[in-house]
Amino acid sequence: MFAPEIRILVIDDMPSIRDLVKSQLKTMGFKTIYEAEDGEAGLEALYRHHKAGEPIELVISDWNMPKLKGLELLKKVRSSAEFKDLPFVLLTSEAEREQVTEAVLSGVSQYVVKPFSAKIFEDKLKIVWDKHKK
Ligand SMILES: [Mg+2]
Repeated sequence: MFAPEIRILVIDDMPSIRDLVKSQLKTMGFKTIYEAEDGEAGLEALYRHHKAGEPIELVISDWNMPKLKGLELLKKVRSSAEFKDLPFVLLTSEAEREQVTEAVLSGVSQYVVKPFSAKIFEDKLKIVWDKHKK
C-alpha cells in the first residue's frame, strides 16, 4: 500500500466530496492531502508541486468538473513527460459509467463509482498501488 507520507491531490468541484475523500484518506493514515476545485486548478497544482521538488504521488480526481474534466485531465497527465506514470484514480457517477472504457484506454489507474464505501475506496487504492509499484 502507499506510504502514509505520500502527497495526494484530491480534485473535485464539490467541497463536500473533497471533504469526504479527505476524511477517508485520513482514516487510512494519509497525512499530506492537497485539494483543487477543477481540472485546470488540479493540473496547475501538479506542475507547481513538481517544480517545487515536492511532486504529487497520487491523484484522486472527479470526472465531471468545470474548466477541465477528469478525463481530459487524465489525457494531459498521461501525455506529459512529468506525470505519465502518476497513479490516477477517477471518481465517476453512475451516469458516466459507460464512458469509463475511454478512461481505461486513456490509462486511468482505477475508477471508483460514487457513492462508495471506505472499504471499496481502500481496496481500489491497494490495486492502484500494486499496479504502479516498481
Ligand atoms: Mg463534479
